[in-house]
Amino acid sequence: MHEWALAEAVVLSVVEFARSRGASRVRRVVVSLGELQAIDREILSFALEELRKGSPVPIDEFVLEEEEAVFRCRACGFEWRLRDVGGLGEEVREYIHFVPEVVHTYLRCPRCGSPDFEVVRGRGVRIKEVVLG
Ligand SMILES: [Zn+2]
Repeated sequence: MHEWALAEAVVLSVVEFARSRGASRVRRVVVSLGELQAIDREILSFALEELRKGSPVPIDEFVLEEEEAVFRCRACGFEWRLRDVGGLGEEVREYIHFVPEVVHTYLRCPRCGSPDFEVVRGRGVRIKEVVLG
């Protein structure tokens, strides 16, 4: 049900945005999904399509994009991505996608080995672009 709540929030935000700009139609909405986000893309896509039909302001199209996660070490400032990390099994990768909170358990800075890093990108869901008609 997480995906449905999210889809509702997206549609609501887009409708409010369109109204605030006096637009009567939305051509395109690009939604960015963080790599570290336990969201079922299929369900979200389905929910958006369903809600789109009942939207008070017509929305022509939703586009879902994935945003790659980027990490930054607080000790040395190094930035890296999940694909830069060797030695992570497929199982761990899946686990990180499914439960993003575990990322600090499995990852260390590839340069200095510090476990003290932040997630700079790739977390959460955001509306990246709205094209009004
Ligand atoms: Zn480091």
